[in-house]
Amino acid sequence: MTTHKIAVIPGDGIGPEVVNEAVKVLELLKKLDPSFEIEFETFDWSSEYYLRHGKMMPEDALDTLKKYDAILFGAIGDKRVPDDVTIWELIMPIRKNFKQYINLRPVKLLKGVPCRYMDENIDFVIVRENAEGEYSNSGGRLYPGMEQEIAVQNTIITRTGTKKVARFAFEYAKRQGKRTVTSATKSNAIIHSMKLWDEAVNEVGKDFPAIHLQSYYIDALAAYFVLRPGDFEVVVASNLFGDILSDLGSAVVGGLGLSPSANLNPEGDFPSMFEPVHGSAPDIAGKGIANPIAQIWSAALMLEHLGREDLAAVILDAIEQVLVQKEVRTPDLGGSSTTSEMGSSIRAAIQQLQ
Ligand code: ATP
Ligand code: MG
Repeated sequence: MTTHKIAVIPGDGIGPEVVNEAVKVLELLKKLDPSFEIEFETFDWSSEYYLRHGKMMPEDALDTLKKYDAILFGAIGDKRVPDDVTIWELIMPIRKNFKQYINLRPVKLLKGVPCRYMDENIDFVIVRENAEGEYSNSGGRLYPGMEQEIAVQNTIITRTGTKKVARFAFEYAKRQGKRTVTSATKSNAIIHSMKLWDEAVNEVGKDFPAIHLQSYYIDALAAYFVLRPGDFEVVVASNLFGDILSDLGSAVVGGLGLSPSANLNPEGDFPSMFEPVHGSAPDIAGKGIANPIAQIWSAALMLEHLGREDLAAVILDAIEQVLVQKEVRTPDLGGSSTTSEMGSSIRAAIQQLQ
């Protein structure tokens, strides 16, 4: 039996509060299922760590993390530390060095979630390119401070990078028995980078004749997300478009408290990282009222990645049961329950299911 070795980085704000609940869920599964072995090591790399040591994590942090099968991450962000420090010194080095070039975000409306799409069957994933695209540091400014000042920001789209992301999307669709992949584009107006994106996605699509590829312009696609979110199965998008669509998708199915994500290294030569879409939420940190579902669901995505789809399904069933019962709800869902009450209810539901 393999023991899954997990590095846990709780981070800042509500990060540690919700990570604590997710780890307890995993500990419970380990207790209930003799075929499931998991070990955790917690790292206190965070803004507090930065304030004490002048850096977000130690020099050998990546070497340390490399030895784990996966990383469970909470959230980073603190008003005492600039955003570019927290992002560029912790999240980005992990994503880049571990070649986590896929950001996978399920957009699934869980049963029992109060929202305006309650009668629709919304269940799709966004496959976002996570390593290149619009978020590059290539560019610069001319005539700084002058009236004629110009800023140039370059988008890096590569044929290889796009094909890898597209291939992941098609393979995911095939594995999950989905029939359509939707590509987000804007090649009518962004005529260099997005044309290459389209070409690369089309090229990969030819290897999957059973799956229908449709391309939508990002503006129209954003509208369709709102007008008919039940129509999508797998959406593949560049870094910027995927970022925007992810937040939109999250809002459609009930908000940040319910939105998990995975930063995947599909080849498996480095650990992948699992984290909620939300940030450290300083406005509610320390109050014990954050919704832990996004983090617990992220842990479920981690189990899927580790080959335990069965346990991931148990977690999701338990979350849905608690939501359907409507008795325990954190404030973001209109209730007054605490983080730990939500966590305990989910664990109680798991105990009944297992
Ligand atoms: P970051 O820059 O770290 O992404 P942000 O300012 O974009 O942070 P979040 O920290 O994600 O935003 O918080 C946005 C809003 O959503 C806040 O009002 C926060 O309280 C709320 N929120 C985020 N996560 C949760 C959660 N798990 N439970 C309840 N409310 C949440
Ligand atoms: Mg944010």
